[in-house]
Amino acid sequence: MENDCIFCKIVKGDIPSNKIYEDEETFAFLDIAPVNLGHTLVISKEHFPNIYETPEEVMAHMMKTAKKVSIALKALDAEGVNVTMNNNFAAGQVVFHSHIHVIPRFTNDGFELWHGKRGYKDGEKEEIAQKIIAKL
Ligand code: AMP
Ligand code: ZN
Repeated sequence: MENDCIFCKIVKGDIPSNKIYEDEETFAFLDIAPVNLGHTLVISKEHFPNIYETPEEVMAHMMKTAKKVSIALKALDAEGVNVTMNNNFAAGQVVFHSHIHVIPRFTNDGFELWHGKRGYKDGEKEEIAQKIIAKL
């Protein structure tokens, strides 16, 4: 439990939430400002700021829960889901407690994804791929 963390307080029950699911490692509840109705957040019960600090097995467990929620969102006639995680300020993270967004999607619901904005120059793809591979 991190003192001033809103999601830790939700797990603890100190702040109310609309709980969807809970198991020993994860907790899922409705996002208070949904992109579409039913937009759910899957969080780790233990406090980790984001993907960089969250252990692999906890991430895997969060993704298992995200899959369960994805299927359950069919109850709202969702035709698809976006499963996404924002990590660090540059990526739009606002709450620094690891969470996965599961967003129900409907044809023509008006929510746009990012648009690819740049291509690679000659040889750049190989150079970029090599840099990433070297860190794995
Ligand atoms: P982000 O950190 O940008 O990935 O998103 C944080 C998400 O948490 C936003 O979509 C908020 O609407 C949501 N949120 C913040 N406070 C609450 C809360 N008390 N209950 C439910 N969702 C919340
Ligand atoms: Zn927390």
